[in-house]
Amino acid sequence: NSPTAELQALDAAHHMHPFTHGAGLGEKGARIITRAEGCWLNDSDGNRILDAMAGLWCVNIGYGREELAEAAARQMRELPFYNTFFQTSHVPAINLAARLAELAPGDLNHVFFANSGSEANDTNLRMVRTYWQEKGQPQRQHVISRWNGYHGSSVGSGSLGGMKGMHAQGGMPIPGIHHIDQPYWYLEGGNMSEDDFGLARAQLLEEKILELGADNVAAFIAEPIQGAGGVIVPPATYWPEIQRIVDKYGILLIADEVICGFGRTGEWFGSQTMNIRPDIMTVAKGLSSGYQPIGASIVSDGVAKVIDGVEFNHGYTYSGHPVACAVALENLRLLDEEGIVTRARDETGPYLKAQFETLTDHPLVGEAKIVGHMGSIALTPDKASRARFAGEAGTAGFITRERCFANNLIMRHVGDRMIISPPLVISKEEIDTLIERARRSLDEAHAQLQEQGLMAAIPTV
Ligand code: PMP
Repeated sequence: NSPTAELQALDAAHHMHPFTHGAGLGEKGARIITRAEGCWLNDSDGNRILDAMAGLWCVNIGYGREELAEAAARQMRELPFYNTFFQTSHVPAINLAARLAELAPGDLNHVFFANSGSEANDTNLRMVRTYWQEKGQPQRQHVISRWNGYHGSSVGSGSLGGMKGMHAQGGMPIPGIHHIDQPYWYLEGGNMSEDDFGLARAQLLEEKILELGADNVAAFIAEPIQGAGGVIVPPATYWPEIQRIVDKYGILLIADEVICGFGRTGEWFGSQTMNIRPDIMTVAKGLSSGYQPIGASIVSDGVAKVIDGVEFNHGYTYSGHPVACAVALENLRLLDEEGIVTRARDETGPYLKAQFETLTDHPLVGEAKIVGHMGSIALTPDKASRARFAGEAGTAGFITRERCFANNLIMRHVGDRMIISPPLVISKEEIDTLIERARRSLDEAHAQLQEQGLMAAIPTV
């Protein structure tokens, strides 16, 4: 038995994988990742794999940064843990909160720590509801979000998300959470122009507010660009209209920056790219580039003032964990001082965009959308009609992902959209390799779909 086969057998026997457990491992077993450097993973068979997903949208700074390992080791020696609950604090949490306040736009000057994006969104849900209670409007408890948005998988954050498969398991959504349709023009826009469709989808927010009663709504939460939903880049008309509506009704806006934050969209935050003014931002993932689990809510002066005036009975043992904070601080320092965010915006981002968009000349690719270092392509059996596949949705995506995997390229599929989100430090040569492998994988997937008779189309326009 090879070491890989032994590990795979142990994995299958005892290790429950999130999301794919039971269904996703198949006969092959999991690929076991052992080391990583820059944008490259090694597996237990000695393959080198180009990671075009940055782990799980996390590793903005790339793998293998010694400085982050050092920061963790230093902090572990000095103060491995202390809590920030009962009138105690510590230096890494203080410094990281101050740094985040500096980086975040507008009056987002206050930080409430968590250990993940899910936990930070649970915090947000309770914080906005508490805010309105304290403001003397206790009836304002409804929160609006979007179908196909993703905000985490705890019961609270999973309820905020709009993943129907998740909702079907375990009693979600909890009461008081309402979903509106996403601004996904390619498959849902019919004959409308992208701009008209963007406006129409934004106006669903106003309709929902009026249906619930404007005085009953606490907040709207959304990702600046939906990530796990398939990298759905909204039409240009969408966010200005959403901002107008939340302003008009005085509803708090929560921008979930868990994927968009820390350079992924070209700016420090997706809210800057989309030109919106959130009252709260959720961050995680790229905050530590995934080297440590950490999340946070970055909160406006106005909301913080109200929450600071009461005892907010909320927090996690590891909120603002010193090691995670020290690593995040070092990550932010390097992203800034090495010019990683600006180089991603000005050099590799535009290059990646130009190369990625060439994929639209492939017969299987209906559109390519990319902002900064997050992009997606729509797979289609017929480009002219923006068609869906007549067979089970997601089959073409799954086949394409498997081909990428076999070609040592990590891309993800969400239904029949293929996603990339590479580390910000990806070089132009690595981008060429990414595109070359993606193209080869698309060719192979196309041939397989034809062979298996899976190219039948349902036109959407
Ligand atoms: N929000 C968004 C936008 C996310 O993409 C994710 C994770 N994919 C989360 C929240 C949840 O974060 P975590 O998995 O760290 O709980």
